[in-house]
Amino acid sequence: MKRVRMLLWIGFLVFFSSLANAKSTELKVFRDKGSNRIISATYNARLALAASIKNLTKIQKARVKIQQRRWNRKDSVLKADEFLDNNKRLLGLNNIGSELLPKAPEADPQGGTIVRYVQQSEQGYPVVYSGLNVRFLKNGSIDSLSVGIAPNISVPGKAKIGKKQALKIAISAFRRDFNTDIEPLVVSNSLVIYPKSLIENTPGNVSILSHQVVLRAPEGSGIEANENYYVDSQSGEVIARLSNIRYLTRYVFDCTTMLWDTKCWVNKRFTDPPHYPEYVFGRGETNLARGTNPVFGYTDTDDMHSLLGSIHNYYLSKFNRDGANNQGGVGTGLYIGSVLYQPAWTFAYVYRDGDLGSHCSYAAFNSGIINFCHDTVGTDTVGHEYSHGIPFFTFNQLPGGGIVFPAGLVYSGESGALDENFSDVMGEMVERSITGNANWLHGMVNGSIVRNLIDPPSISYEGSFYPDKIHSQWFYCGSYDNGGVHINSTVPSKAFYLMSEGGSFNGCEITGIGADKIEQILYRAMTTYYVPTETFNQAYIHIKQACTTLIGNPL
Ligand SMILES: [Zn+2]
Repeated sequence: MKRVRMLLWIGFLVFFSSLANAKSTELKVFRDKGSNRIISATYNARLALAASIKNLTKIQKARVKIQQRRWNRKDSVLKADEFLDNNKRLLGLNNIGSELLPKAPEADPQGGTIVRYVQQSEQGYPVVYSGLNVRFLKNGSIDSLSVGIAPNISVPGKAKIGKKQALKIAISAFRRDFNTDIEPLVVSNSLVIYPKSLIENTPGNVSILSHQVVLRAPEGSGIEANENYYVDSQSGEVIARLSNIRYLTRYVFDCTTMLWDTKCWVNKRFTDPPHYPEYVFGRGETNLARGTNPVFGYTDTDDMHSLLGSIHNYYLSKFNRDGANNQGGVGTGLYIGSVLYQPAWTFAYVYRDGDLGSHCSYAAFNSGIINFCHDTVGTDTVGHEYSHGIPFFTFNQLPGGGIVFPAGLVYSGESGALDENFSDVMGEMVERSITGNANWLHGMVNGSIVRNLIDPPSISYEGSFYPDKIHSQWFYCGSYDNGGVHINSTVPSKAFYLMSEGGSFNGCEITGIGADKIEQILYRAMTTYYVPTETFNQAYIHIKQACTTLIGNPL
């Protein structure tokens, strides 16, 4: 009797452990070390197929194989849906069809197909900054998942605070944050789900039904602001502000004496104010070189014009990308009401202080327009700002194209640091493509170095230093700099430097594989595997996947 019972137990154990093995070998799930949330998964189609056809007849097996050969890219959304549906409990979802919105499938340049779910929603409310990618191999089997969604969302069905009240709250927060009394432009105001735990990468499933109020400072106001405010729909509290601007530096643009007509205008001739002589400042696509600016003695307009052309050619020749927006430029063609606010082509301003001889120290990508001051019209800096356009247009949360806010990676914490890391490294790669050499020093034209990607702690920042690893004493965990987006960007940037050039660091000897390879790995990681809330742990997995899938390419 005892023996029989024991055998039964062993039988059960073997049965259950074989089930568990089958599951874990087919779908391997990776979790973030900080939040324990699922961030990535790989799938072993060969094992799954073997398990699923194990008990079929020969004829049935042959049929399955024929079906597999008839794989068609158009089916990939359905197949991805079905796959996610089979794993929905694991992912914390209930109904794939109503909760995840896919874009049309994209061909992966490395073979296969990417299905990008650009928006999660719950009770009809969009979950901002959500995203999930499914990658298929050439033969139609699923290879990997990048996961950036909020699991098990539970929010109240209705707002207690109205739209108008939320707008008032957001505007007063805007005025406080930017120390101004101007009337900001209201780009949009809508109810969304703010996935707090996902964005902050903390354990738990806190998501908040919020009013998302997007406010921007009007042109010529002297304030550079384009911000998403999240107002709790129940309490009216401002729970977050996330910027749509990607700043290069922490310097504040001193524009108090700047007038609208000191900006760069294409083909615009003006005479006011009287202390400026008449001149033409800007340069359009078909214009001849402008030469030296007669007031300031600089050649910024032509320098910028030529740099933007070179950067465009860099992305086209290396990545077959027709401009950051894949439509020839970096512009969004954003409409506010019925007015086209920005054209879709590349639009760059060069700013200057009102005082002759002095100038601001500033460069930024602002949702399709890139802004520079005289000292920042340099190769790696323009490359940096332009490159912010890549994630901005990769993660735009609209299945049919065009841009809605928010777009890009979340510009705070680790995802913001990965955004800055991408721009810094690609800025160096742009510099290399133009000058033949990357110096890995991110700098200004006047010679000051902003970040040193070879040795980050050699540069100070507000009494502290840039970190070169997560466990560095300089790794920043506060709220300054949008949660250290620039400060901590040097951790992955140092890693990319080592990948490219090699060296000994942290007790390891690294053999460099060269810039031609690392630029492809970084670009592929960003555009194929990253999600808007990408964490450092997640990027570690995704950079490796990008690398693995590039092996065999003649780089
Ligand atoms: Zn930047």
